[in-house]
Amino acid sequence: MTPEEEHDFYGQPENQEPQGAPRRRTAQRTNFSRDPSDPFAANRAHVRKKFAAKLGYLERMIDCVADEINPWAGKPLESKADRIIALVLSRSLTTARAVVCLAEAGFGTHGAMLNRALFEDLIDAGWTVCNPDAAAKMHSAHERREQLALRVSLEKLPATSDASFEPLTAEEVAELADETRFGRYGERHWTGVSLHARIDAAKGAWEEHELVKLRTMYELAHHRNNLLLHSSPLAHNQHLAEDAPGYLKTFAGPSTVEMDRTLFGAAWTIGAVGLLVMQHFDFPRAGEFADWRERQERRALSPEIFDLGEVDRNDPCPCGSGDKCKRCHGVRE
Ligand SMILES: [Zn+2]
Repeated sequence: MTPEEEHDFYGQPENQEPQGAPRRRTAQRTNFSRDPSDPFAANRAHVRKKFAAKLGYLERMIDCVADEINPWAGKPLESKADRIIALVLSRSLTTARAVVCLAEAGFGTHGAMLNRALFEDLIDAGWTVCNPDAAAKMHSAHERREQLALRVSLEKLPATSDASFEPLTAEEVAELADETRFGRYGERHWTGVSLHARIDAAKGAWEEHELVKLRTMYELAHHRNNLLLHSSPLAHNQHLAEDAPGYLKTFAGPSTVEMDRTLFGAAWTIGAVGLLVMQHFDFPRAGEFADWRERQERRALSPEIFDLGEVDRNDPCPCGSGDKCKRCHGVRE
């Protein structure tokens, strides 16, 4: 895909060379339509068509996880750690749905930023499965610190009529002075462990082949999403349309940048969170879900990866999805 194709929803010429002497100007273009009732309708139609396979993969994965866990068919939630895992699952489903909304409106890069949160939730769920006692203790301790820190912040603000809080007691001030675990404002992670160390300490939550994929997602997707979230050259350059001496063209607004990666990453991750929960709580259909998820993942991979040359339409698809080729990669454009 050329940058031109990536940036353009409506086929407007993007890469015209500046005529004559180089001009110094900054051009910005947005793709918002003029329909105030739904400014993103045209984007949605475009994304739904162009990224049908990956968007379908993500939506099927969200729906399936939501359907499998509701009504709850697993073991009852017995511990504080179990409650944390259930909350992480709920947050992950919400995040994945938000990624669909953002991506189909043309905000794939911002969907990728959410994928960063989604991936971290997956790791936290795995870490909690493997370290239930530490998770319970640290979660409560971090929650306490957040509340104390919030009250300190409110105390510093000019009094407002609707801010109601108890000033800190001497004991609470002393408690908050100890910043070793979470930092002054709870800015460190609630587990007290870095993401890298959490992955190592959560290894037991995944089978070997899943762990290999998870590490790949960490090394490639998560690091990239991290850069997109923060103010980095990679993030800035996502908005560069043309850069020539004396001529800078940027774009602001919807585009199809990052769309493929974002949809695939969100689908993979929410599926992984769902599977982890089903396995942890002994859902009777966890094994079936794992197989189905594997097939969905294979179906969503780009057709170029597979050699479709010699395959009959009615043969099993070479991707290994188990479907006939004509119903799988054989029908892709
Ligand atoms: Zn296939």
